[in-house]
Amino acid sequence: MGLTPEQIVGDELIPILRKVERSERLSREDGILLSNTQNLTGVGHLANIVRERLHGGKTYFVRNQHINYTNICNKFCKFCSFYAKKGGPAPYQMSLEEVKHRLEWHRDVPLTEIHMVGGINPRLPYSYYLDLVRTVKEARPGVHVKAFTAVEIVEIARQGKVTVDQALADLIEAGLDSLPGGGIEILSDRVHAELFGKKLNGEEWKDVARAAAKLGLRQYATMLYGHIETVEERVDHLIQLRELQDETGHFLTMTPLSFHPESTELSDITGPTADDDLRAIAICRLMLDNFEHIKSFWIMNTVPVTQMSLWYGADDADGLVHEYEITYKSGEWGNKSQVLTYDNMLRMINEAGRIPIERDSLYREISAEELQASVMPKLTPLPMSKV
Ligand code: SF4
Repeated sequence: MGLTPEQIVGDELIPILRKVERSERLSREDGILLSNTQNLTGVGHLANIVRERLHGGKTYFVRNQHINYTNICNKFCKFCSFYAKKGGPAPYQMSLEEVKHRLEWHRDVPLTEIHMVGGINPRLPYSYYLDLVRTVKEARPGVHVKAFTAVEIVEIARQGKVTVDQALADLIEAGLDSLPGGGIEILSDRVHAELFGKKLNGEEWKDVARAAAKLGLRQYATMLYGHIETVEERVDHLIQLRELQDETGHFLTMTPLSFHPESTELSDITGPTADDDLRAIAICRLMLDNFEHIKSFWIMNTVPVTQMSLWYGADDADGLVHEYEITYKSGEWGNKSQVLTYDNMLRMINEAGRIPIERDSLYREISAEELQASVMPKLTPLPMSKV
């Protein structure tokens, strides 16, 4: 005979088990207890109850391509290994022709989402961002364009000398479909001042989220963990996102992002362990009762931890992901292509004992016919040139 839920979670977590059974909102104290308990299996069991209540065994993934259009950035965040700096990656900014070229690389692959983010590059004019979105939409009609963190949106508005509302409206007209997460990392004034003081603060980030929601844009949320933040700051981050979601209802997914210290100014920190990754995912699932989906980003978590995370609260494994350049493995600057083939994505999910479900960016399950329609029309091949 197997263990009962009470035996799995133990005396310490039984009060939270009762709340989970009643679908009752968890408190800050509950979040801190879940963060500190030795019983990770118990935490995972609780998160899995919620995960299976919402999604059964389904695990979603998307066919996506990432385009990181520039790595020139004037924010100098201490946790970032992506921006151009001495001894790090060489600076680049993609022309629109290069963006088309990147899209052309995968012209025969059905893709439903293009995910674009970049550094805060003061050389790029307002028109560049609008043209960037138009370029993608023209090259791959029907694709969902998820682009620009809140920090980029504020920079775009500054470049155009327009309000954030106007910049968002113009981008929507050009073809923007949703905003990715990122840009705030952890909603904490202390961490903001220490690690990313040149970027938006928490209230400014929330204002962009509210402006996006008012215009009908959906948004994704993230939490970068495993650097200098405390357990309390993590829980407070989640509670602030939960309150914002109560207000706007526009967030689709929460993605906890495992910090990779290699090649950052924080390289002396030991990054999160698999235990940390699974716990972060489980706590997101349990605290964010008004978020439909919790994603395990396999590039950051690795494939084996992503498989385990599907039993710790995650119902989404992200996507096939072509050319993601934000996180470099072990400080290597050479091969940046990070791709799971379609078959390997299915295998990863099936081997974990879950059911793979192909989705679009808004979590509609998609058919083979729709996928075929997302193959790119023929373009004239273009030479690649570094700017
Ligand atoms: Fe720039 Fe973004 Fe890196 Fe910060 S995290 S330095 S804003 S690219």
